[in-house]
Amino acid sequence: MNFDSFDLYPQIVAGVQALGYSTPTPIQRQAIPPALKGQDVLGLAQTGTGKTAAFVLPILQRLVKRPRGRIGALVIAPTRELSDQIHTAFVALGRQTRLRSLPIYGGVSMAPQVRDLRSGVEIIVACPGRLLDHIRQGTIRFPNLEILVLDEADRMLDMGFLPDIREIIKHVPTVRQTLMFAATMPDDIRGLTRDVLRAPVTVQVDPSAPAPTVAHALYPVASHLKTDLLLQLLRYTETASILIFTRTKHRAQRLGKQLERAGYPTTSLQGNLSQNQRQAAIRGFRNGSYRVLVATDIAARGIDVSRISHVINYDMPDTTDAYTHRIGRTGRAEKTGDAFSLVTREDEAVVRNIEFVLGARLERRRLNDFDYQRSALPGRDNGLSGQKQSPRGQPERAKTFNNRTFTARSKKRY
Ligand code: AMP
Repeated sequence: MNFDSFDLYPQIVAGVQALGYSTPTPIQRQAIPPALKGQDVLGLAQTGTGKTAAFVLPILQRLVKRPRGRIGALVIAPTRELSDQIHTAFVALGRQTRLRSLPIYGGVSMAPQVRDLRSGVEIIVACPGRLLDHIRQGTIRFPNLEILVLDEADRMLDMGFLPDIREIIKHVPTVRQTLMFAATMPDDIRGLTRDVLRAPVTVQVDPSAPAPTVAHALYPVASHLKTDLLLQLLRYTETASILIFTRTKHRAQRLGKQLERAGYPTTSLQGNLSQNQRQAAIRGFRNGSYRVLVATDIAARGIDVSRISHVINYDMPDTTDAYTHRIGRTGRAEKTGDAFSLVTREDEAVVRNIEFVLGARLERRRLNDFDYQRSALPGRDNGLSGQKQSPRGQPERAKTFNNRTFTARSKKRY
C-alpha cells in the first residue's frame, strides 16, 4: 500500500513526497480512510507511530477546498512542544495548500496570538489552558469548525485537563468530526470517548506495548553508582542523540551538569525553564548541538527528534504506560533504537509489569569492567541518589575528576 490509495489532492501528495514518506505506517493505513470519509476515529497508538500525519492529512484534504479565513479544524494537545510539532507537520505537509495553522499555548504573550487570529487562520493547534483563555475573552470562536482532534488524550487527562477539555467542547459545534488519539485506554478515557465521539471507528496499533523497533536492556545497579555506570555505558556505546529521563527536575538539571562536565554536550529540559529556554534546548538537541538531553517525563512530552538512537532511563518511571511513552521517543516511524534502563531493587515491580506487557523477559546486562561492589563511601555520592546530605543538611556539590564523580568531601580519598 502507498499514499496513492488515499486519493489525496496533488497539493497534499506534494507535501507527503517532500517529507519523503513512501509507505503509510500501520496507524495511517487504518485511520486515514475512515477519517477521509468523515467518520469519527478513536486511534490507539503511541507516539512514534506516525499518528500525527494520520490526522493532519485528512484535515488538509477536507479544508483545502474550503474558503480561507475560517477556523475549520482544532487540534488539542497536552504540551507546547507537541503543539509546535503538530503545527510543523501541518506546515510541512500542507506547504502547497496555502492553509494556515496557528499554535496557541501559554508561557508566551497573548497579543501576537490575537493578532494572528484576526489575520485569519484555518487550523488551530492548542494546549487547553491558553485556548480557554482565548475562548473566555472572545478572541477565538469556532462557528465553522468541522474537525476536532484530541491528541494524546490519555496524557491530557493525566495532566488534569479533563475539565478544560469538557469546557472547550461546549464551544465547538456539535455537528462535527472528532478524531481522538491515545496511547493507552484508562477508564476516564472511555468516559470521554462516549461523550465526544459518535459511532467511532476504533483503530489500534499495539496500544500498550512499546514500539517493536526498540531493543530493551536493563542494567541493574545500586542507586549510588548510577552516574558512574551511565558514564561507562556512554563511553562504550555507539550513540547518536541520547534522551535520558530522570525522576525530578532537580535530578535532570544536576545530571545534565555532570554529563556536561564529563565532556558530553548536554542540555536539560525541566519544568523550571522559560518557554524560550525550552525551545532553545529542544532546538539545540534536534540540530545536534547537544548530543544528550536530560529531561523529566512532562518536559519531554511530545519531543520528536528523529535521530534519537538511545533512550536511557536513569530513573525508572513508575508505570508501564510512562515507560511506553518514554521509549516511544526512539525507534520512531520504524527506525530502530535502544532503550537502556538503570534499575535498582526498588524498580523490580515496575520491571515485572513491563515484561508482562511486552510478553517477554528483558535482557539484564552487566558491564564487564565496572566495579559493582564499590560501596557508598561515607560522604561519597553521585549527587543523585536522593537522600545523601552533608552534615549541615545541604546536598553536597558533586565534582568530576578523571571522569569520576566525587563529592567535595570524598575527593581526598582518591
Ligand atoms: P508521530 O508518531 O506522528 O510523532 O511521527 C513520528 C515520526 O515519524 C515523525 O518524525 C514523522 O515525520 C515520521 N513519519 C510519519 N509518517 C511517516 C511515514 N509514512 N513514513 C516515514 N516517516 C513517517
